[in-house]
Amino acid sequence: MAQLSDDCFAFGGPLLSVDEAVGIIAAKVTAVQETEAVSLVAADGRILARDVAAPLPLPPFTNSAVDGYAVHAGDLPREKEKAFPVKGRVQAGAAAQAAKPGEAVRIFTGAPMPEGTDTVFMQEDVSLDAKGHVVLPAGLKAGANVRPAGEDIPLGHVALKAGQRLRPQDIALAAAFGLTELDVVRRIRVAVFSTGDELASPGTPRAAAQLFDSNRFMLIAMLRRLGCEVSDLGILRDERDPLATALKRVAGEHDLLLTTGGVSTGEEDHVKAGVESVGRLVLWRMAIKPGRPVAMGIIGGTPFIGLPGNPVASFVTFVHVVRPIVLALSGAAAAPIVAMPVRSAFAYKKKGGRREYVRVTLRKAADGALEAVKFPREGAGLLSSLVETDGLIELGDDITRVEPGQSVGFLSYADLL
Ligand code: AMP
Ligand code: MG
Repeated sequence: MAQLSDDCFAFGGPLLSVDEAVGIIAAKVTAVQETEAVSLVAADGRILARDVAAPLPLPPFTNSAVDGYAVHAGDLPREKEKAFPVKGRVQAGAAAQAAKPGEAVRIFTGAPMPEGTDTVFMQEDVSLDAKGHVVLPAGLKAGANVRPAGEDIPLGHVALKAGQRLRPQDIALAAAFGLTELDVVRRIRVAVFSTGDELASPGTPRAAAQLFDSNRFMLIAMLRRLGCEVSDLGILRDERDPLATALKRVAGEHDLLLTTGGVSTGEEDHVKAGVESVGRLVLWRMAIKPGRPVAMGIIGGTPFIGLPGNPVASFVTFVHVVRPIVLALSGAAAAPIVAMPVRSAFAYKKKGGRREYVRVTLRKAADGALEAVKFPREGAGLLSSLVETDGLIELGDDITRVEPGQSVGFLSYADLL
C-alpha cells in the first residue's frame, strides 16, 4: 500500500508553514483505488467514487406547484375575471387527462399537468359561481405555479461529483434518481497507537505516576468521523525496539499509521529512533502553536504520522496534518477549512512567522454580533480547554497582536471534523 512517495523527505527538517506542509502532503499522497457499492442508507459520510449523472430529469414530469385550477395560457383572463367550466380533477399520483381550450381542471400539488394546460391558479385566488364554474382573476402570468420537468435537474446533468463526501441531501438526490446504491471509495484503514510509560488504558490499574490515555480515544473518534476504519492498537512503551516491531508488524495491513507522544527530541522520545530502524522518517517542525514537531515517515510502504503527546497539540496537528492526508488517501476532494469572521473579545500577542490557534467560546454581544471569548488558560495539556470551548481562532503568520473589537477568523470544532 505505498501511498506516499519517497521524495516528500526532500522537504524534511526546516520549519514548515502549515500551508507548505498541507501542500506537500496533498501532492504526494495517492488515493486508494478500491471502491465498493453501498446502499443509500449506508452511504452517509462516504466518499463518492464516480460522478453521478441524472438518469432522469427532476422533476420527472411537469406538475402543479399548488392546489388549484389548471388552464391554458391562451385562455388567461386579461382585463377582468372570467368563469370557466371545471372539467376533470387530477390528484398527485394520478394520470394526467387532456383539457380542451376554455376549460379548467381541478388540480392538486404534485399532480401532472393535463395536456392542453400550462398555468395553474391557486385555489386561494379563485371563487366558484352559482353554476359551479370557477371564476379566475385577471393578471396571472402564463406558466405560473407550474414546475416544468427538469427545472430542478436536467437529464444527464452531473449532479454528484466523484470525491465528494456524501451528505443527507446528496443521498436524497440519489434516491430521487431511483438509485439504490452508490459507488464509494473503500474506507481507509488506520492503525492508532499511543506511546508513553506514563499512560494507562482506561479499565486497567493506574500507577501513582500514571495518567489514563486520552489522546488515543480522541484520535480514534476523529478518524471515525472522517470515515476511517480504525485499529485501536493500545499503548506502546517508551522503548525503541518493541515500538519499531509493533509498527512494522501492522504496516502492511493499514493505509496509515498514527501515533501520539514521543516525537520530541528528549531522551525518552523513542518514536523517531523506532521508525528510523524499520523505515524512513523526517521530523517536521511546523510553524504552528500549539503544535511542536510532527514526525512523518514511511514504514513498509505505509505512511506514518507521529503526533505530539500534549492533547491540544495532538488535536491541532491532527486537523492540519492527519485530516488532509486522510482526505487525500480517501480520494476526497480537498476541503480547505474556512474561518468565519467574528469579533474578538480578547487582547493577544504572538510571534510573527507562525500560525497560532486560540481556544475560544462564542457569545452574542449586546449589539447582536458574535464575539469570541478566549479560554482563560493556555497550556497545551489542558483537556478542559478543548471541552469547554466552541472552536479555534486562527491567527495567521503575519499577525503579531489582536485587540478587543478586531475581526478574527473562527473555526468551529463542528467544521473541523
Ligand atoms: P510527549 O509528547 O510524549 O513528550 O508527551 C507530552 C505530554 O503529553 C506529556 O505530559 C504526556 O504525559 C502527555 N501525553 C502523551 N501521550 C498522551 C496520551 N495518549 N494521552 C494523554 N496525555 C498524553
Ligand atoms: Mg512521551
